[in-house]
Amino acid sequence: MNSSISNRSADASFNVLNPSTGQIIGQTANMGNEELNIAVESAKSAFPHWSSLTDDELKEKCLAITKKIEDHSEELAKLITLEQGKPLNGLGSRWEVGAAVAWAGYTSNLSIPVKILQDNTDGKVELHRKPLGVIGSITPWNFPILIAIWHVIPALRTGNTVVIKPSPNTPLSTIRLIEIMQEVLPPGVINVVTGDDQEFNLGAAMSAHPDIRKIVFTGSCATGIKVMKTAADSMKRLTLELGGNDAGIVLPDVDPNAIAEGLFWGAFINNGQTCAAMKRLYVHESVYDAVCESLVEFAKKIPVGDGMNESSILGPIQNKAQFDKVSRLISEAKQQGKVLLGGEPGKGLFYPPTIISDLKNGDSLVDEEQFGPVLPIVKYSNIDEAIRLANDSPNGLGGSIWSSNIETAKSIANQLECGSVWINKHGAIQPNAPFGGVKSSGIGVEFSDEGLMEYTDIQVIFS
Ligand code: NAD
Repeated sequence: MNSSISNRSADASFNVLNPSTGQIIGQTANMGNEELNIAVESAKSAFPHWSSLTDDELKEKCLAITKKIEDHSEELAKLITLEQGKPLNGLGSRWEVGAAVAWAGYTSNLSIPVKILQDNTDGKVELHRKPLGVIGSITPWNFPILIAIWHVIPALRTGNTVVIKPSPNTPLSTIRLIEIMQEVLPPGVINVVTGDDQEFNLGAAMSAHPDIRKIVFTGSCATGIKVMKTAADSMKRLTLELGGNDAGIVLPDVDPNAIAEGLFWGAFINNGQTCAAMKRLYVHESVYDAVCESLVEFAKKIPVGDGMNESSILGPIQNKAQFDKVSRLISEAKQQGKVLLGGEPGKGLFYPPTIISDLKNGDSLVDEEQFGPVLPIVKYSNIDEAIRLANDSPNGLGGSIWSSNIETAKSIANQLECGSVWINKHGAIQPNAPFGGVKSSGIGVEFSDEGLMEYTDIQVIFS
């Protein structure tokens, strides 16, 4: 926490639970408006100095943060596992912190030079990018460190100051991340606030705060809509990275065994609790049985257990509300399709990887974002039908085409209504490629130069 806040005792605290065991692993402050105002004021006071640093100075500070995070990798990974549940290994918390370091490093090295639009006898026209001021970052519980980095580093790199609010389910790793950053940054440049979303909604208060100039929000579509409405009164800039219901389409020319591993991780990365995970799979009838069989054979081998156990590759569902949602969708899908794997809850918040075939659009597991360890499979007979079914969703985050013919796959990719399309993989984001949703999956993009520009206003100087 920023020192001005940590010296002050908040009225109450709330518990943070380990989803693998149900045990309390820590408490954090349940803040209200007063604490939020202190944090915003702190960020506002730090802005004039921070935004006056040269491009090289900002870059150096951001690279110094990156190094600090790298030095604390193992500590952060353990905190993520304890509060989020994902295992240390596999595509788990060590992977998440490694990705955070890679993103921070890449983004620190980006810059937005002044663009000369005209330089002739009629005059010179320059396009400048200016920082906005105080950025409010609101993050979800699925990748607490990585998503914080996606919000914070581009904001700082472009000369803004930040107030970040993690999800009440996973606040501890973010608090530690911000403490580490504060060892490098001048006071007030970055601040963290926490609340339990019960009697007082800190995210809503941030969206309404007159001194926050932009909200970068990652979370559900329903909350994103609330943020947009609340932010309208103060004309805030917004980046909204919202929910997805990504479709994968398997063409008849695939080798089912060769794609099984990619299909599995496309759907089950982070136990399916990933915005751009594959959440519906459409398979051509000629390879349907073989693809289902190969996928189930691969999925059976994945060890599920307490994330702190070095041999676990998938962990529990992160929280009870999400567990209940996944349980409901599976119960409904069992009436409509055929359970090929899993289908029954484990202990506590554990649910084994579940694969249910013979479903169709209109079934709740196909239509709703499950955000958990279950994949619905739908059979199709012609590609136009598959494209129509894939596009039959209010969401438009990602999609994938699986084929041995890249050109055919690309021509189908082009017809999908989503921000990213992968061929023979799913969800493989990278820091040099813009990422964002179309339709109800959000507004704006993150990553790359395009993502960096979202933390700036344009000013054109005519001379
Ligand atoms: P959520 O919308 O419930 O919560 C996200 C954040 O919003 C939390 O910090 C929460 O405290 C805060 N919040 C709650 N009410 C608010 C309000 N009225 N105003 C402002 N903020 C408020 O989402 P979640 O359950 O934490 O995360 C899961 C969702 O996030 C899924 O739908 C997933 O697809 C989506 N997600 C999207 C991306 C992406 O990049 N598109 C990435 C990760 C997760």
